[in-house]
Amino acid sequence: MRNIRNIRDKDSPVIESISQGLYRIEVPLPKSPLKALNAYFIKGEKRNLLIDNGFNRPECRDALFSALHELNPSQTATDYFITHGHADHAGLTPELPGVSDGSAKAMGSSRDAELINSTTTGPGFWETVLNRMRPHGLSEQEMIAMRDNHPAARYCPSQAVPYQPVAEGDTLTYADFVLQVVAVPGHTPGQLSLYAPKQRFFFAGDHILGTITPNIAHWSGFPDALGQYLQSLEKIRRMDIHLTLTGHRALVERTTERIDELVAHHRKRLVGRAVGYHFDIVVREDF
Ligand SMILES: [Zn+2]
Repeated sequence: MRNIRNIRDKDSPVIESISQGLYRIEVPLPKSPLKALNAYFIKGEKRNLLIDNGFNRPECRDALFSALHELNPSQTATDYFITHGHADHAGLTPELPGVSDGSAKAMGSSRDAELINSTTTGPGFWETVLNRMRPHGLSEQEMIAMRDNHPAARYCPSQAVPYQPVAEGDTLTYADFVLQVVAVPGHTPGQLSLYAPKQRFFFAGDHILGTITPNIAHWSGFPDALGQYLQSLEKIRRMDIHLTLTGHRALVERTTERIDELVAHHRKRLVGRAVGYHFDIVVREDF
């Protein structure tokens, strides 16, 4: 039985104890429809692990660092895992303790590490994005306004950091959690998740969300993002999962049913207008 309790007063950022040594930190995302990020903290004897962190903005920084101070008063060394390269998950990575001096590992996929680092290193990333929009008729003014208001530009990390690349097949051990790295491309080209077989916990990033559907976008050099996403859902559906720890909003206790809902959602939207999508991968007899 999942045992969640709020260990702070109602006016403070939320920290929830999910199981022995595992906490959810709610990092507010002001004015974002996502409302908040779920970061996860595994408290180990020698090293801790923080999964995802938040936008590079004061509200996120204050909540996250306050929670880390409370959960880790002895300042035991902490490593960092970034599920994917969106700024609401990776915006604070350069500021986390130990990252700048290399005493802590910041781990992520090489693909998404390159992505998030590219948003911090001058105009190259956004030039590429705007060049893709230009042929579709947006005015220069509209594109500049879009860029300047985009959270990935406003709240991106303060600088690039040297991520330690991890990939499917790698295993990370913190406290009682033996975490298998599982690639789930789709929401981003290089999104990674973590599976803890003993606890049957699945740290999903934004691959599976409970009350909203993960956004599937167009990425340069990543054709058929939706097809990739659906394949990644199929892969996770075969796993034995007791609890999915999502990147936003509610955690998911019935993962198989939620995956079926997500597949059905895309199937419904695709029917009649998406000739060429690989439905044979995802259509089952049971819905
Ligand atoms: Zn995301």
